[in-house]
Amino acid sequence: MNRPTSSYFGKYGGQFIPETLVPAFRELEAAYEKFSKDSGFAKEVDYYLKQYAGRETPLYYAERLSKKIGGAKIYLKREDLLHTGAHKINNALGQALLAKKMGKKRIIAETGAGQHGVASATVAALFGLKCDVYMGRVDAERQAPNVYRMKLLGANVKIVETGSKTLKDAVNEAIRDYTASFADTHYLLGSALGPHPYPTMVRDFQSVIGKEARAQILETENRLPDTLIACVGGGSNAIGLFSAFLKDSKVEMIGVEAGGDGKKHAARLTGDGKVGILHGMKSYLLEDEFGQIKETHSVSAGLDYPSVGPQHAQLFEQNRVKYVSALDSEALSAFHLLCETEGIIPALESSHAIAHAIKVAGQMGKNKIIIVNLSGRGDKDVDHVRRVEDGEGELR
Ligand SMILES: *Cc1c(COP(=O)(O)O)cnc(C)c1O
Repeated sequence: MNRPTSSYFGKYGGQFIPETLVPAFRELEAAYEKFSKDSGFAKEVDYYLKQYAGRETPLYYAERLSKKIGGAKIYLKREDLLHTGAHKINNALGQALLAKKMGKKRIIAETGAGQHGVASATVAALFGLKCDVYMGRVDAERQAPNVYRMKLLGANVKIVETGSKTLKDAVNEAIRDYTASFADTHYLLGSALGPHPYPTMVRDFQSVIGKEARAQILETENRLPDTLIACVGGGSNAIGLFSAFLKDSKVEMIGVEAGGDGKKHAARLTGDGKVGILHGMKSYLLEDEFGQIKETHSVSAGLDYPSVGPQHAQLFEQNRVKYVSALDSEALSAFHLLCETEGIIPALESSHAIAHAIKVAGQMGKNKIIIVNLSGRGDKDVDHVRRVEDGEGELR
């Protein structure tokens, strides 16, 4: 079948879906095409981003951290201050409003650690939509507080017992549900990945991060930053920040993947990833010699995904964005350093970006500027960090 060319980022992306889902995706593409150009819709999204989620978020100069490292000025884009504690709400609000415009009565979502499930349950409650969240049994047991949060918000958590009972199995179940239910249901995907139009749509809903950061740094420093740094799980917070600067050829951009413990990791672009197809898109992914998806590892659940959004695969190939990885141990050190120097407890995902900023800031002059995307707050990780460092073993 002919795929619309706009569904690709270079040779990555596309729309690899079963025939039964084609009508659902045609409807979604058409709706997004229409509403992404509708100023009334944009106003409505802005309203909820501001009045409900707490935008705009500050661009904060981390002075004590910068001076401690002794190099570039490090600014933090404070997505951690948003309602529900991370950037995920930007996308969840946008997609839920789109679902309402499409006349859908129900949303479904998949979740690994539960963060996207909580964001989805939140917007479902806000807009009076029914919500079912698919979650693997293993993940649900590790993340019991998030399961309870989703229930408090009125969502139904559907425990998945197939396969490894983790995120990829939850995705499979959500797709199965969607195939039978799309007439009244929207599938609220949580990152800039999956079949077209999700990578584009999620990027657009997250692009508010970069638009704000660009205006804020021009306002405070009267110039563009030298370097942007963001962690890359599926890639939504990173592309949300980067997208506003892609045409500024002098702005360096760095995406940080999870280096795990050095052996087990989720480094798709900087590790041994290969190009393949997973979850409806063509991108880099981690597979074994038999083509089976490899088990990934990261101390941070949000970076623990075997593939990566297709636009990142393209930016990697074009060398426009540099990709690196940070180890679990480096992220944990960065987590503590930010707590102690700035009084900010960062998410473990975001700690990977901070870890890389710490590595490079010292080699840059004091007149240089780095913006780190602080994608989320670390309240959710406090118990996990304690367990890892007390040697009680990881929750995951
Ligand atoms: C989910 C999550 C991520 C990773 O997802 P992206 O789509 O790569 O942004 C990063 N940070 C936080 C706080 C998250 O919750």
